[in-house]
Amino acid sequence: MSKNYVTGFPRIGEQRELKKVLELFWAKKTSFQEVEKVASNLKQRHWNYQKDAGIDFISSNDFSLYDNVLDTAIMLGAIPKRFQNLENEDLYFSMARGNKDAVAMEMTKWFNTNYHYIVPELSLEDSYALNATKILNEYKEAKALGIKTKINLIGPITFLGLSKRVDRGDCYELFSKILPVYEALLAEIALLDEEITLQIDEPIFVKGVEPKVLSLIKPCYDTLCAVSSNINIIVTTYFEHSHEATKVLVHTPVWGIGLDFLHGNKNVESLALIQESAKKLIAGVVDGRNIWKNNIEKTTALLENISKSVSKENLIVSTSCSLLHTPFTLKYEEKMNSEIKNWLAYAVEKVSEVSLVSKVFFEGEDNLTSNERKDLSDNQEANTLRKNSTRIHNKEVQTRVENFKKLTRKGNYETRIAIQKKILAYEDLATTTIGSFPQTPEVRKARADFKKAQLSKEVYEKEMKSYIDECIAFQEACGLEVLVHGEPERNDMVEYFGEQLDGYGFSQNGWVQSYGSRCVKPPFIYGDISRPKAMTVEWMKYAQSKTDKIMKGMLTGPVTILNWSFVRDDMARGDVSKQIAVALSDEIDDLQNAGIKMIQVDEAAFKEGYPLRPENIAAYEEWAVRDFKISVSSANIETQIHTHMCYSEFNDIITTIEAMDADVISIETARSGNELLKIFKEVGYKQEVGPGVYDIHSPRIPSVEEMVTQIKNLLEVLPKEQLWINPDCGLKTRKWEEVKPSLENMVKAVKIVREELS
Ligand code: GLN
Ligand code: ZN
Repeated sequence: MSKNYVTGFPRIGEQRELKKVLELFWAKKTSFQEVEKVASNLKQRHWNYQKDAGIDFISSNDFSLYDNVLDTAIMLGAIPKRFQNLENEDLYFSMARGNKDAVAMEMTKWFNTNYHYIVPELSLEDSYALNATKILNEYKEAKALGIKTKINLIGPITFLGLSKRVDRGDCYELFSKILPVYEALLAEIALLDEEITLQIDEPIFVKGVEPKVLSLIKPCYDTLCAVSSNINIIVTTYFEHSHEATKVLVHTPVWGIGLDFLHGNKNVESLALIQESAKKLIAGVVDGRNIWKNNIEKTTALLENISKSVSKENLIVSTSCSLLHTPFTLKYEEKMNSEIKNWLAYAVEKVSEVSLVSKVFFEGEDNLTSNERKDLSDNQEANTLRKNSTRIHNKEVQTRVENFKKLTRKGNYETRIAIQKKILAYEDLATTTIGSFPQTPEVRKARADFKKAQLSKEVYEKEMKSYIDECIAFQEACGLEVLVHGEPERNDMVEYFGEQLDGYGFSQNGWVQSYGSRCVKPPFIYGDISRPKAMTVEWMKYAQSKTDKIMKGMLTGPVTILNWSFVRDDMARGDVSKQIAVALSDEIDDLQNAGIKMIQVDEAAFKEGYPLRPENIAAYEEWAVRDFKISVSSANIETQIHTHMCYSEFNDIITTIEAMDADVISIETARSGNELLKIFKEVGYKQEVGPGVYDIHSPRIPSVEEMVTQIKNLLEVLPKEQLWINPDCGLKTRKWEEVKPSLENMVKAVKIVREELS
């Protein structure tokens, strides 16, 4: 009678089948029928994985051809005007990716994950109408295969919370307009079967919702539960606790509440209420956010604890969130070290864990079959082996990091910048770039061949060096003042460092959907981090030897390395980040000793790491700032430290950015004129700033005139002594044909402005 549940399953396919067919379709190399065929096969395979593992609650409508927030917008008929002349797949993919007449809808991060959803565009004048086809069809599709699914939906409150108003105003004003569409949907769903389970995702509740939003919960769920008595509604949250919302939900007729007990400890405070209201508790205890094997002994203990408050017959064992955020299956990890592989579980393996945990919990160890008993003892053994493995523990690292007391670099900003300006002698409005130059097919091929040992180290290095030579030659000819080497040796700004640090692991097939057809393969931190040898010094030394100008060293910061990796779950994130920081401080010391005078420490993902709940922000900022400062603590007064951040909204974090105390920060403000720079002035920010003067995300070549205007706009906010001029991010995704004229124009624009100023 064990009851178990999987919140949702990834959909891109274990061999990225969906990605491949979508990209063929977009390139007009295959038909939409073919896309649908692949999608059907994937759905069937994913359902069967769960069915074979003995999962009771398997989802439909967790699949999507692009994104399930977009699917929800389509379901509601929330179609922006510019797409209203289109239909079917043309409409769908145009909304997601734009077309020749209409720009794509915006995309943004799904809570604190690396998944990105399409931001719905709403307006008071919209009229909404139900399109239930996808949802109904997916249910029928599964049913025809003999699988009775629960139906997943994104809830109305979360949908509104994630949308934006194109006519200014509050999205929640549209609540009374979209709720009837959900009611109509539920009325159709009610006809599908005698009894239906509906999982309504409301993750917005974990953000510590305002009273205004809380006040919508009761009317919303009273109304939806009243549609039909044959629908059991479960409201699900994840990534944090949602105690405030649960307190309201227990007073509605919902059938169950899904809570994350791994990332929201405070959810235990809701247990008594849930018991009193006799609702089902879908207990998220198998982590959907990482790749580590569950510790079944610990999980069962957690469940036993929960069952002291909520009786066993009301409990259902679940993943903590959709498995969308984990890779598919360990099956294809043929090259991974077998000791490490034995510590891991991807989505398919996690489904089996849910099943086993529920067996052990509901039926007891004594009632397991011999196979199950073997699985359980394997699980215990794997956890013990991991805990005791010498690969994980490095006493030397632990002692050094624990005792690492150098938390700030020498000299305050005023002292440093005065000395640096004298030594480095750059002009006001100094020009530079963010680090990478176009990654040509030749560079990518050389790197890949070298990795496969099809290219010797000598030939590889020669190729990289000749790329660096060309990069330098171009930058000098163009008249840029602070140069970069162009990053040809780096496939990815995190992976490159991960590969050179001890304690880091890599997968062959650990793809996770990032958005649409795009996947990332994050490296994972399994053990104490140390740096066996210098990581960038040889390249930088070479590059500096080729020019008399300043060559800026290029590193990825500790917080970004952490945020774009899967992180070990046996240690606090801040402690892992400190280990990375200490390793980076050694790298900076080596770089300056090798004659590098300026070093950029990229923190592209600094903002992404922010906690979902305001009450946790201070703790995050404390270690994140500490570790950035530790990384640069070895820098001499004369060494100028730059940082770069890939976003433009600094209003809420400006004092934190200031506290990081970099000498120069480059940021992504190109698309907003000087609006977003104003906050720097408002708070009296002293350090130097390079607000990107053009948008590198577009192939467009900005003209000299428009960059002159842009620079003048910036000068209205900050004085020339404080400003740097640069593009707004790295250039690796652009083509040389775009980069060259753009940078030439940028340098020309600076010359014009300087002349006018003098
Ligand atoms: N230095 C990196 C680059 O130029 C920074 C990338 C980023 O900010 N995402 O590619
Ligand atoms: Zn960037």
